[in-house]
Amino acid sequence: MTAAKKPATRRKTPLPRPSKCPDCGGNGECTEAVKVGTRKGRITDDHQTGLCLTCWGSGEAPTD
Ligand SMILES: [Zn+2]
Repeated sequence: MTAAKKPATRRKTPLPRPSKCPDCGGNGECTEAVKVGTRKGRITDDHQTGLCLTCWGSGEAPTD
């Protein structure tokens, strides 16, 4: 009794798709509202865009 061989189909392994950075959403940049004042922290209409410190601009979620 021989076990039925499974058809040798090559299963393509999907490329490891890095998840998007939760902080910047894959943009690699963080846009934060400019706050004025240390106590109140009033948010102005201005926004400053900076490098996302979570993924360092790669837009990929850190795997570590
Ligand atoms: Zn990021």
